[in-house]
Amino acid sequence: MTRKILVVGGVAGGASAAARIRRLDESAEIIMFEKGPHVSFSNCCLPNHLSGMISESEDLVLMTPEIFKKRFNIEARVNNEVIKINRDKKTIIVKDLITKKEYEEAYDKLILSPGANPVIPKVEGCNKPHVFTIRNVVDIDKLNKYVKNNNIKDIAVIGGGFIGVEIVENLKLANLDFNITLIEASNQIMDTLDYDMVQILHKEMIDKGINLILEDSVIKINDDNIKLFSGKEIPAQAVIIAIGVKPETKLAKEAGLEIGETGGIKVDHNYLTSDKDIYAVGDAIEVYHKITKTKTRLPLAGPAQRQARAAADHMYGIPHRNTGVIGSSCVKLFDLNVASTGLTEKDAKNAGIPYDFVYIIPGDIVGIMPDNSPLHFKLIYEVPTGKILGAQAVGKGNATKRIDVIATMIMMNGTLEDLKELELCYAPAFNTAKDPVNYAALVGLNLLNGVFKQVPVYKVRELVENNAFIIDVRERKEYEAGHLINAINIPLSELRERISEIPKDRPVYLHCRSSQRSYYAIMALQNMGFDNLYNISGSYLGICLYEYYNDKITGRKKIVTKYNFK
Ligand SMILES: Cc1cc2nc3c(=O)[nH]c(=O)nc-3n(C[C@H](O)[C@H](O)[C@H](O)COP(=O)(O)OP(=O)(O)OC[C@H]3O[C@@H](n4cnc5c(N)ncnc54)[C@H](O)[C@@H]3O)c2cc1C
Repeated sequence: MTRKILVVGGVAGGASAAARIRRLDESAEIIMFEKGPHVSFSNCCLPNHLSGMISESEDLVLMTPEIFKKRFNIEARVNNEVIKINRDKKTIIVKDLITKKEYEEAYDKLILSPGANPVIPKVEGCNKPHVFTIRNVVDIDKLNKYVKNNNIKDIAVIGGGFIGVEIVENLKLANLDFNITLIEASNQIMDTLDYDMVQILHKEMIDKGINLILEDSVIKINDDNIKLFSGKEIPAQAVIIAIGVKPETKLAKEAGLEIGETGGIKVDHNYLTSDKDIYAVGDAIEVYHKITKTKTRLPLAGPAQRQARAAADHMYGIPHRNTGVIGSSCVKLFDLNVASTGLTEKDAKNAGIPYDFVYIIPGDIVGIMPDNSPLHFKLIYEVPTGKILGAQAVGKGNATKRIDVIATMIMMNGTLEDLKELELCYAPAFNTAKDPVNYAALVGLNLLNGVFKQVPVYKVRELVENNAFIIDVRERKEYEAGHLINAINIPLSELRERISEIPKDRPVYLHCRSSQRSYYAIMALQNMGFDNLYNISGSYLGICLYEYYNDKITGRKKIVTKYNFK
């Protein structure tokens, strides 16, 4: 018997589900409804149109209804909005947005993948014509034309999440001398990173000429400027709102489908809603977090596509193992690659999971190779089990590869021991013989086994202000090029001759450039009977990056004589 399957939403989840169903069932009648004019476009590449990296907006559209019909015998009805679900009759009501006519369509199975809508703040001026949100090709085309055809000079982006950050970067890369301000209400952009790691991004923003404003929010949008809560007025002839998304649940709610505790459509193991003939996937649903064991939402393309396949498979009796999500993501910010997976330190704290973390700054590739650069890598693990909970990587090199390894480890319930023994490929152009992820595991195991103690980079200011005993074990020239204001310099190469300068009756904090030499120093000193030593994780490079942005914007007293970012 021919099954009739209707799909609401024609992009990441919807198009994936429709295509998978066709692969499983040649005889099914499949109709995909999309209220916009395009199906199957690359949401993720939308910001790249602003920089010109993707020069034509049409190139953002990956498939047309004609191709869907020819290749897959799937009918994709664009400009057709599904406005009602009649669960008792198993029909939907559709409005053709061109003819304005409404019609009814029956289904055997229905898949909802209506996505999410941008959150709009309740602020005067949000509906002005120079205020934009970005969700589809029409939106980005409109913004692109507006900023380029109207001699716009000042642009304000509100919200420092992925979309806001990508919009800022691509507007800057358009090379049109825009003055760009990014306003974020919290004390950091990109909440997928911890506060210590994100300082590297804050620096990158200001280095690239972005006016980054944190801990402030917009209260009014005027034609030529925006007014902030702090009283500041920021010139802006174009405003982009990117403060997050909320799941599109109107249809589901009106049809009486259950909504979950986080506001997304409630689904079971197989993405079935509370109606056994209706599935829901993508940004609109609520998902289960593998590590925190709580309900959450994860509006990302990879999960949407996997959920779509699983729902289609379930429809055809193919079993699916629902592992829950961990939240892996990445973004490029000018010269930096940024990636993270699993829990941040902040998340672990909020979830009440006992944890510790490693912050290392190894080279991305072998140091003598051209283009080598430091990779800032933070690994979070459970205490005392050593189970890996999450990681963050920032650098010019390959951050995503390292985070993908950690994501795989988390999905396999890996521990520091597993990561230490993980055999990865190596050649100097790609990494180091001991890859940063292996190296992080070794440091983590040392900490877990009490081999040495550490203090985080965010405690250093307090140490300096309290005149703690800090030893900088870098060589003299490095020290002279910039050091902590009260650190004494005992280079590792002079350590054994200068033992008498090191007290035993108070804590001693050691650092070098990236914490490796200070670890060697600590091991040597501990073997000589010292037992009150702490390695400053992140060391001088980490300290300079951590302090820089707040030093700049607050004008506070610096704790370093001179920054050194190399
Ligand atoms: C600018 C931008 C950049 C992004 N970058 C990334 C990235 O780099 N990596 C990543 O993983 N994710 C990224 N995402 C998120 C990713 O695009 C989404 O998670 C993914 O598209 C969700 O798939 P979906 O099918 O749930 O929703 P969508 O892909 O948004 O599709 C939903 C579609 O349903 C349509 N629709 C809604 N209601 C109806 C209705 N009643 N009738 C008919 N049609 C309807 C909508 O018009 C929409 O086109 C980005 C998103 C944006 C906006």
